[in-house]
Amino acid sequence: MIPDSLINLLRDAKRVAVLTGAGVSAESGVPTFRDAQTGLWAKYDPQDLATPQAFMANPELVWNWYAWRRDLAEQVSPNPGHYALAKMEQLVPEFATFTQNVDDLHDQAGSQNITRFHGNLFGVKCFDNHHMIDNWRELPGTPPTCPECGSWLRPDVVWFGEALPENVIDHAVQVVRAADVVFSIGTSSLVMPAAAVPVEAINAGIPVIEINPNATPISEHVALTLRGKSGEVLPALVEAVWGQ
Ligand code: NAD
Repeated sequence: MIPDSLINLLRDAKRVAVLTGAGVSAESGVPTFRDAQTGLWAKYDPQDLATPQAFMANPELVWNWYAWRRDLAEQVSPNPGHYALAKMEQLVPEFATFTQNVDDLHDQAGSQNITRFHGNLFGVKCFDNHHMIDNWRELPGTPPTCPECGSWLRPDVVWFGEALPENVIDHAVQVVRAADVVFSIGTSSLVMPAAAVPVEAINAGIPVIEINPNATPISEHVALTLRGKSGEVLPALVEAVWGQ
């Protein structure tokens, strides 16, 4: 299943960079944006809820959707794919994880060098001034408000159309250009600017390995695609390369 060429490449690798997306958490029970939502939320397209415009139009709806996602994320645990990445970090001299995920499953699995592109589902800040808030009181009919400035509270995530935290993409591009191997795992490679990161590596001639059960726009351009679930492929990879 794991080609010898990849085993040898990874055994010699000093620097490995990984970009992960929602697919890495799918086997933990966190739905990806492209999976149908369930229950109450099935009729909404997540891409229509995860925007500042959606929040302004219906703050209570968006606040409640994130409260539901937070509750869901609190009940799940890392899967073997998250643990395999944490293990790889211990085995490779320089290992960097860049994630589009807003859950904390990489942290829970023990990964250390994590850069979050899209914020944190468990953080809350105010809409107007981005004051970070630890405790809030739920209000009927609207989101809670900021104790410092009175504006509505919202999740500390990056919505479609919003800027990423400063310098994260520049940092990722620098790291992937210096890497011996780059992985793109569980991401549709459609959401910019994160999707540009593996493309930078491809353009720099760095071998990019994609792990995904489905094809993506970068599949034709990567050095190798491992078609499968990250929770199955990643443990098999760690076992094949390092015997662990
Ligand atoms: P996406 O929903 O666009 O794509 C998910 C990708 O994962 C698809 O290509 C799919 O084929 C693949 N996939 C599904 N199951 C898989 C598995 N078991 N193993 C490996 N791959 C699998 O997700 P994206 O590319 O991360 O981008 C969408 C946005 O969704 C991001 O901005 C992200 O912040 C947000 N999001 C995050 C979470 C989370 O934090 N867990 C969940 C949903 C959405």
